[in-house]
Amino acid sequence: MKKIGLIGGMSWESTQIYYKIINQKVRDILGGFHSAKCIMESVDFSAIHQLQTENDWNALDEKMIEAATNLKNAKAEVLIICANTMHLCSDAITKNVNLPLLHIAEATGEEIKKAGIGKVLLLGTKFTMERDFYKNILSNDFGIEVLIPNEEDREIVHNVIYEELVLGEINAGSRGHYIRIIYEAIKNGAEGVILGCTEIPMLIQAADVSIPTFDTTKIHAEKAVEFALS
Ligand code: GLU
Repeated sequence: MKKIGLIGGMSWESTQIYYKIINQKVRDILGGFHSAKCIMESVDFSAIHQLQTENDWNALDEKMIEAATNLKNAKAEVLIICANTMHLCSDAITKNVNLPLLHIAEATGEEIKKAGIGKVLLLGTKFTMERDFYKNILSNDFGIEVLIPNEEDREIVHNVIYEELVLGEINAGSRGHYIRIIYEAIKNGAEGVILGCTEIPMLIQAADVSIPTFDTTKIHAEKAVEFALS
């Protein structure tokens, strides 16, 4: 079994879910008392979020390279960034740290393809919904058409993440907004929805909507286990 290196704390509310899924999956596959070999570098999210709001992605690249280097020095054999947004730094990591990095958008694209779905709604932070780094992988590598909410709704989705979910707050009103936004996308042809922020699965579950949901936390954590056991 390979040792998984997790860059966590973004936020810790979802990182703890990664840890649980990874260990559950190892036990499901290997049975008995088996659990995952892993190591985590958990950052102070306040510092990360400050740099995000200042749009200082060079400084964020440096922080992610440092975290990945620490994991490599601790003998990690594969890396995962436990967040969608911070994959904006994935190129900087792979250029500077010689370890395989399992990209969350690639893992998600594979699952969407397997499900035979061609058009999806992407929900996440504004960075994830509006910039190209995530959508390009889905469209260029997997031929998936990606819808995002309108500007006003993107603001709602983004604010719920940073004002509630990363603090562990789950509000029925916010769930209602998300469900409305998903149903609007269904009218525009969405056949599935990517829960493209690792905290969103705390708010929205498969049973809340009539189209398949793609839980990026679960997909990514399980991909790490498949790789570790391969
Ligand atoms: N966990 C989040 C994500 O998956 C958002 C927090 C952040 O990293 O900015 O995008």
